[in-house]
Amino acid sequence: MAIPIPLSPGSENPSGLDSKEAESRLAKYGQNLLPEPEATTFITVFLRQFRSPLIYILLLAAAVSLVVSDTKDTIFIGIVLLLNGLIGSLQEYSAGRAASALRKLEQPRAAVIRDGKVREIEARLLVPGDLVLLEAGGRVPADIALVEATDLLCDESLLTGESLPARKMAPFAGARAVDSKATIAFAGALVTRGRGTGVVMETGSSTEIGKIAAEIGKASASLPPLMIRLARFSNAIAWAVGLTSLFLVGVGFIRGLAWSDLFLMSVGLAVSAIPEGLPIAISIALAISMRRMAKRNVIVRRMPAVEALGSCTMIATDKTGTLTLNELTVTDIRLPDGTHLALDAVTDLDICEIKAANMSPAEARVRAGRLLRAASLPNEGSLVQDENGWKGVGDTVDVALLTAARKAGLTQDKMTEDYPLVARIPYEPDLKYAASFHRGGEHVHVFAKGSAETLLSMTDRMDVGGRAIEIDRGVLLAQKEEMAARGLRVLAFAEGEIRSGADQIFGHHHLVDLVFLGFAGMQDPIRPEVSQAIRECHAAGVEVAMVTGDDPKTAAAIAAQAGLEFGPSQITTGDAVREAEAAGPERLDELTKRARIYARVLPSQKLSIVLSMARNGHFVAVTGDGVNDAPALKHAHVGVAMGVKGTEVAKESADIVVADDNFASIVCGIREGRTAYSNIRKVILMLTATGAAEMLLFLLAIPLGLPMPLLPVQLLWLNLVTNGIQDVTLAGERPEGDELARPPRRPKEPIFDRLMVRRIIQSTFVIGGGGFVAFYWLLSWGYQLAEARNLLLLLFVMFENVQTLSCRSEHRSLLSRSFFSNPLLLASVVAAQAIHIGAMHLPWFRDVLGLAPISLAEWSLTLIAAASLLLVIEIDKFHGRSSSSKSLRAIEAE
Ligand code: ADP
Ligand code: MG
Repeated sequence: MAIPIPLSPGSENPSGLDSKEAESRLAKYGQNLLPEPEATTFITVFLRQFRSPLIYILLLAAAVSLVVSDTKDTIFIGIVLLLNGLIGSLQEYSAGRAASALRKLEQPRAAVIRDGKVREIEARLLVPGDLVLLEAGGRVPADIALVEATDLLCDESLLTGESLPARKMAPFAGARAVDSKATIAFAGALVTRGRGTGVVMETGSSTEIGKIAAEIGKASASLPPLMIRLARFSNAIAWAVGLTSLFLVGVGFIRGLAWSDLFLMSVGLAVSAIPEGLPIAISIALAISMRRMAKRNVIVRRMPAVEALGSCTMIATDKTGTLTLNELTVTDIRLPDGTHLALDAVTDLDICEIKAANMSPAEARVRAGRLLRAASLPNEGSLVQDENGWKGVGDTVDVALLTAARKAGLTQDKMTEDYPLVARIPYEPDLKYAASFHRGGEHVHVFAKGSAETLLSMTDRMDVGGRAIEIDRGVLLAQKEEMAARGLRVLAFAEGEIRSGADQIFGHHHLVDLVFLGFAGMQDPIRPEVSQAIRECHAAGVEVAMVTGDDPKTAAAIAAQAGLEFGPSQITTGDAVREAEAAGPERLDELTKRARIYARVLPSQKLSIVLSMARNGHFVAVTGDGVNDAPALKHAHVGVAMGVKGTEVAKESADIVVADDNFASIVCGIREGRTAYSNIRKVILMLTATGAAEMLLFLLAIPLGLPMPLLPVQLLWLNLVTNGIQDVTLAGERPEGDELARPPRRPKEPIFDRLMVRRIIQSTFVIGGGGFVAFYWLLSWGYQLAEARNLLLLLFVMFENVQTLSCRSEHRSLLSRSFFSNPLLLASVVAAQAIHIGAMHLPWFRDVLGLAPISLAEWSLTLIAAASLLLVIEIDKFHGRSSSSKSLRAIEAE
């Protein structure tokens, strides 16, 4: 419960700094920013590339070849090392840069009073002396000496390590000797409850947190689970490659091949068959999706969330601001006597727009006066006028109410002049009301606004034409239901008097026996993109549930407008959730299995709803904006915070921030998340299959008594011109377009599902087996060993290029995708051919790699041989497509 602390009247400078002064102070003190943690330099990233076992093996190989063969091999291995390192670090560096650019999108803001007006500015522009407003859910933007505090709690764990929030208060007049720490809100602390106003003492690195920022800035970079899983997979492959090499060396030894050749062969195989590029290609796939999501207003705070969002099966969404525009306008006022007043949704505030059926506007204004006063006084919003007209600052409900009052000619200033503020209970979603205490004559008046149920429980009389008569709750509830059924957000109002001594602590216990004043109904239009987005969700097998603090009727009406049609059994309330919870988790799980609208829910209940949905097998994305949403945002599979409406606490607890608060953006995020996952699969398929094919080639050739089909340097070269440049280009494939037409993948589905394994086997056999047959034929047709290797190497370059191309889609034909939709991939294939044919003509490369120029006819024949892979995969894809459409038809026929 909120216990208001009396405001200290006439704080030092109630109108704050003027903008000129603020500007000159900004020049003097600098921006309110903490020193940036040192960015990783390119050199560091580059050097890091060499800390890998594979590189050590290559270094060893360079040393060995220096001793046993000629220096050219050594130089070549050195070049491969350098290029590998360079490519790797370029990729890693740009991925890192993209991630830090995204972090810059999250600029904290602060509410400050300047030139006597409340405004929201970027927190980095704060200067010492600024008068700052603090509110539950925000981060304290600078070190602030409190002037006023209402029930203010700050979580300073970042600074002190103390996990319990600290109570903050303004120094009492006269008794300034309160613990000085308790009167300062420190930069970086989270406001967990209440409100406060204070003067900025220190900014930027002069703040307490600035002094220790260097230590805090060192964020631990933990790897996404997917990458950990794949790093493990890479390890397994490394072992497999190691064992196979050992086997080959054994067989080669028995066959009497030279030790040094065998050693270099196993190095070559290891380097080309181990998918060392996999982890970085995956983080690039995720980084590219993060960047694409950012363009669609979805800011990913934790990389794994990209993939998680793609696999969600349930979105538990807010109503206000996410499905709706959060542009509230009071359109209806209902007085307890049944009088119905209408307001036009006109923005010009200086025109009176209140009217009723058989009443003059002047009379309507008088009739609505008491209600509008109770709407304006316990109100934390304000209306400010600038060149562009009127602008509301604060909660949209509050602004809508002030706007309505203004249309009736009532101004906040005039009202607070007549009724000076004594104390207030600020609105918190868990309270569902706000109240304020004002001096008026001898008495203290109390005004309250909030949800209908809450205010009905505080009142025992109602106002009819200026007289307070006994309340008729039935009639009032019916009025409310009627408004709610039209999708209006309904607020109720009441007032009362407190007759007693002056200096008491005002609070919740005073909110009894009040007089009910009536209802206001507000319209909040549905976002235009939402219906389409909801249809897409349904096509994509993603369910949508609405979790709201609002009335069930309003919620159901809004849901229906958005295209979410639910039966009565699917609409439930916070109370029902609480009851089910008390009866045990099974009961709750039963409830969440069917319920899709959760109305009158307290934010603190969101977590148990989300956890219960997860127990029912859903992969849940939940949206939130307030302080109390933080636990749900943290513990859901994907926490989605609102960028505009959301508090700092919510954003910091979330995996994803939606910059425009729009539900449709979340759906765009799901599409991108699914794209990222399928791109990762494409890269894995490409790398695994080509590596396995190279192993197979040697596994056939060495035991069957053929010479080494490719030289060690040729293997290194092959790895460099194909995988080295092509894995990353697959990671950037654009969406195929049917991402949202498929059901979500099962959360437990392994990456190596049946399709993947089948494709790997197909490609491995075509490339590895085909390569072996080609090599065998070439030798038996009388080609020299060097010539045969020359052609086989070209064949492998082509095979791997074809493999890359056919990996662009798992289901769809290669021909159905435009080559130009991924220009980088096209370029990488062309480059591979160009570099390789170039090397065939350059003396030094020819010498080292054992290459020789070939005729166009030979090139064409090799291309045709490589195309056999395409044929096999295309047939398999075609088969898959026709059987899946057959099974679809079968389902439809049922
Ligand atoms: P939503 O889920 O739509 O965001 P809220 O939790 O914001 O719902 O609001 C729940 C209820 O609290 C509203 O129906 C209204 O009755 C009440 N309410 C909302 N905002 C205010 C406010 N600024 N002052 C008083 N009551 C409010
Ligand atoms: Mg709300």
